[in-house]
Amino acid sequence: MARFSPLRGFKTPKLPLFKAPRLKPPRLSPKVKAKVGQGMGKLRRWALTTIKERYIAEMASRRQGECLRCGLCCKLLFKCPFLQTLPSGLSRCRIHKRRPDNCKYFPIDEKDIRERDSLGADRPCGFWFVEQSAGRG
Ligand code: SF4
Repeated sequence: MARFSPLRGFKTPKLPLFKAPRLKPPRLSPKVKAKVGQGMGKLRRWALTTIKERYIAEMASRRQGECLRCGLCCKLLFKCPFLQTLPSGLSRCRIHKRRPDNCKYFPIDEKDIRERDSLGADRPCGFWFVEQSAGRG
C-alpha cells in the first residue's frame, strides 16, 4: 500500500530572485571626512599608547623639539574642554599634570604631525622626528 505524502507532486514555486541592493558608501563632505579622519587619529593614538609601548618609546627617542603651545593638537576632532587660551595667545592645559597619554605623547609620529597640520600648516608644530641613526651619537 502506497503511503500518503502530502508533499507528493508539490513543486516548489519559483520565487523572484532577490537582488541585494548595491550599497554605495555615503558621500561625505570634506569637512566630515576630515572629522572622521581626526576621530580615527584619536583612536589610533589611544590604541598605540595602550598596547604599543615599545613603538611609543622608539618614537619618543626620535622626537626632537619642544611644544610651542599653539594648542592645535587640542583641537583635533573637538576643542578640548581643558584647553585654555591665554591673553598672550599661548595655550595652556588645565589638567596638564594629569593629562591622558593621548595628549602626553603627542605627536607620537609623523602621522600625528600631518594630522595636526591639517588644522594649521602655517603654524608648524614645535616637534619633528629624526631618523633613528641620526639621533644616536
Ligand atoms: S601642536 Fe605641537 S606645538 Fe602645538 S600644542 Fe600640540 S604639541 Fe605643542
